[in-house]
Amino acid sequence: MAKTSRKRKEEQGTGGKRFLAGIYVRLSVEADARKNESIDTQIALAKEYIKEHKEIELFDCYIDLGKTGTHFKREGFERMMEDVRKNRIDCIIVKDLSRFGRNHIETGNYIQKIFPFMGVRFIAVSDGIDTYQMGEKTDELTMNLKNLLNEMYAKDIAAKVKSSVQIRREQGNYTGGIPPYGYIAKWKNGKKKLLIYKEAAKVVQDIYRMYLSGKGLKRIIEELYILKIHRPSTYRKTGHVFCRNGELLEQWTSATVKWILTNSVYMGRDCYTQDAIVSESIFFQTAARLENAAKRCCEQKERFKKMPVREDIFGGILYCGDCGKRMGKAVSVKKLCSGEVVSNYSYYCPDSKRLDALKCPSKSIGASALEKLVKNALQREFVLAGEHRKRLEEKRKRQTEDMENKFRWEITKCDRKLENRKRQDSEEYLKYYMGEISLQEYQKRKKENRDWMDEILERKESIKRQYHNMKREAVAEEEALKGIMEGREAFVLTKEILQILIKRIAVYQNHQIKIDLEE
Ligand SMILES: [Zn+2]
Repeated sequence: MAKTSRKRKEEQGTGGKRFLAGIYVRLSVEADARKNESIDTQIALAKEYIKEHKEIELFDCYIDLGKTGTHFKREGFERMMEDVRKNRIDCIIVKDLSRFGRNHIETGNYIQKIFPFMGVRFIAVSDGIDTYQMGEKTDELTMNLKNLLNEMYAKDIAAKVKSSVQIRREQGNYTGGIPPYGYIAKWKNGKKKLLIYKEAAKVVQDIYRMYLSGKGLKRIIEELYILKIHRPSTYRKTGHVFCRNGELLEQWTSATVKWILTNSVYMGRDCYTQDAIVSESIFFQTAARLENAAKRCCEQKERFKKMPVREDIFGGILYCGDCGKRMGKAVSVKKLCSGEVVSNYSYYCPDSKRLDALKCPSKSIGASALEKLVKNALQREFVLAGEHRKRLEEKRKRQTEDMENKFRWEITKCDRKLENRKRQDSEEYLKYYMGEISLQEYQKRKKENRDWMDEILERKESIKRQYHNMKREAVAEEEALKGIMEGREAFVLTKEILQILIKRIAVYQNHQIKIDLEE
């Protein structure tokens, strides 16, 4: 009785819609021989599911026999997708997710993007996934799917790493040069082996632990610094892990931390060391987390690309007043009252974020605050120093004249070429008139001349347009420069203006700046 009522409920859930289903079956030889999961059992399981769902009808079974995920030919799969495209089936049933795609990326793509788009219902019986579930169950389904895909991530990565470890194991000797941090290299029975160096190995373990507990690379570097742990290059020089009195403590780089988090030698499965510093499970969890983080980072970059970004008008002229390094810039995103999302820049000295002795006094300044300061400084400079203003005006005048002369010369060249061609044209006519060339030949040459002249005319027009644009921009610049010099408030600082006026801006703490003007 209970069974019938469930059936009715689910039929209602599909809104009376009926499905034609394909069962997809894949046999991977090595793994399934062990698990005893034959094609028949996979099909039987799927058929069982269809029996329980009256709205589904079996259309066909699609079978692929293969070795491992990546290599086998997928004729069955191709045939099934062809039937999907031709609308013969709109439901796909598999035993579990891992039967389906060659890897997590492909599987995720089909289930999350392609099938919803094509209106295909996807069912993975053992995993409890049925994409045609309604209402509150959707969230649960998404979570479930995500978890399964993540599991596949970890397995895919494990397979990749294992095959590279295999290659190294076959080589037998440790040939890697300087031993990885956490190990020391020793000769044993005529072979060079890696042995654990406890104190450093503990640091490696700590790094993995911190990362898996949710700390980012930056935070890990901070903690290592607080713990006074030498970075590997210093450790190699001094021979000890912890910083002693009188020694310089330098912070770890994120590249080094990342290298430790991704080096499979720490699983101790290579031929030259059986000493594991971290377990396989920890290593693979870390790998999956790193990959997810990289993916998130990519997505964020994509989002940023779509955002309207203000021009970075200070690019190239901004320096740290204390250490002289070029200032770095960070983008912050703000949502305005109007709902518009804009990003803005703030600038900082890259060394102000250091932890060690090379740390620069911290300073950071937002683009709009900097703009105000620069405007004020410029006005002060020009209002007070009439001398400088005069020099600048003369220089601008010279530059404009040079530019105008250049354009004029280009136009003159065009005119001369046109004159030349016109003369040639009448000469050709004369030749035809005197019977030196045929009418056909004359017409051919005449056409060539015309085409050539059209080209020159076009070029002349384009030069003129450029000239007018240049003029217009120069007028705007002139206006802005005058605004600065006469102390008017309302003028816009542009990159061009800054390039004309300023050689270098040095930024100090507490929003202090020093400006070097162009001579
Ligand atoms: Zn600095």
